[in-house]
Parts: sequence; C-alpha cells; structure tokens
Amino acid sequence: MRKNIVAGNWKMNNDLSETETLIREIKQQNKIADVEVMIAPSFTNLWQAFNSLKDSSVEVIAQNMHFAESGAYTGEVSAAMIKSLGVKTVILGHSERRAYFNETDEVLAKKVDAAIKNEMRIIFCFGEELNDRKSGNHEQVVENQIKNALFHLEASRFENIVLAYEPVWAIGTGETASPEQAQDMHAFIRKTLADKYNQDLADSVSILYGGSCKPSNAKEIFSKPDVDGGLIGGAALNADDFFAIVNSF
Ligand code: PEP
Repeated sequence: MRKNIVAGNWKMNNDLSETETLIREIKQQNKIADVEVMIAPSFTNLWQAFNSLKDSSVEVIAQNMHFAESGAYTGEVSAAMIKSLGVKTVILGHSERRAYFNETDEVLAKKVDAAIKNEMRIIFCFGEELNDRKSGNHEQVVENQIKNALFHLEASRFENIVLAYEPVWAIGTGETASPEQAQDMHAFIRKTLADKYNQDLADSVSILYGGSCKPSNAKEIFSKPDVDGGLIGGAALNADDFFAIVNSF
C-alpha cells in the first residue's frame, strides 16, 4: 500500500531563531492521521532542524541539491553533503527551481540520478502553467516532465520516488486546483506510470498535490482516491495550519 505524505516546503523563509520557534511549535502538535510528515527548511538551518526533530515523527528533508558529487560549483550543495547530516530525502524539480534557476528536464534527470546514487528518497515535482491548462495541453506537459526526468530509471527505483503534482498557476496564488482537477491529473499520472512500467508500480507510488493547499481545502483534496497527500508551501509556515492539513486524512 502506498503511503500518505504531507511535506512542508519552507522555501527561503525563516532564519535560525524563526526555525527554532517553528520547530518548537511543531513539536507541540499531535499527529492523529496515518501519514508521514516532512519539513524542508533552508540549507542553513537543516542541521539545526534535523537535530531538533531527530527523535520525532517529523522527517527533515532538503529543498534541492546539485547533481555533481563535489567540485567547483560555488554556492551549491551536493547529495553527499546533505546525506552526511543524516537527511535522506530531497525535493527536486520544484517549479520555482525550474522557473528562476533554469532547471530543465535534462538537469533534473541528472539530479535524480545523483540522488539515487546517494540512496536518497526524492520528492519529484512537476506541473503545468496556466496557459498549458487553458490550451488543454496540461496532460501532455506533465507527461513530458515525468518522462524526460524519470523514465530512464529502472522500475525498482520508484520505491524511493514520491511524485508531487503542482500546477504552477496554483502555487502561492491562493487559487487551488479543484479536487476533481487534482484527481483527474493524478489518475492520468498513474496511468502514465502503468503504461511505461506496470500497474503494481503505478499503484505503489505516492502522488502528492501541491498548490495553495490549506486547512479549509485539504480534506476534500486528500479524499480523492489518487491523491496521497500534499506538498505545502505557505500554510507550512504556521504549525497549527500545517498540522490541520496533516490531520486532514
Ligand atoms: C509549493 O511551493 O510547493 C506550494 C505548494 O506552495 P503553496 O502551498 O504556497 O501554494
């Protein structure tokens, strides 16, 4: 059975003391639902967050990494560096990385390979822009993003891959995909996996929804059969809101 997951992407928010405060508030929350919970603080606070939460049920994960093992890549962080902290999961392909840092499918395929080589779990993000949806190309765009970055992998690698469908038009905009739009796309993604690999694999991969998910809409979105949780941006910066979403299963 695939897992329910709620992951909070803190993006470039929270300095060290804000990180400590939010983690203190997170530790006071109760997880009632059957769900894996993760938070992704900035690199500068990863070590602190990891240590503060290492005896809890909240996993600390990274927001990004470089594809190279090491070398002359000023300002970048490798999978081995992240792993050396004890952090085992990384978000790759977030639309902000694609849009502002030119992360192409080709770059992302290399990052995926580097994460796998370092035995890391990947939350792989993708999603169409508003014009793709308006022109009816959203499924094609998503299919290409998945194919180009992941379909060179052997089936067994998908044990360590979580997919996150995040329509760009819904991220940080307050506009959410309707539960039906999310379900339709998640079912399409599962079919794409089944066509390339097999139905068992398709049924075993967790597919998260991301895009203005909040306490008021999480329950309905998570109730859809092919939605296995959420990748949460803005609402993950408040412990009460984040855990209201966590407990929405
Ligand atoms: C995200 O950045 O992954 C995201 C889903 O952001 P938000 O929840 O703020 O739309």
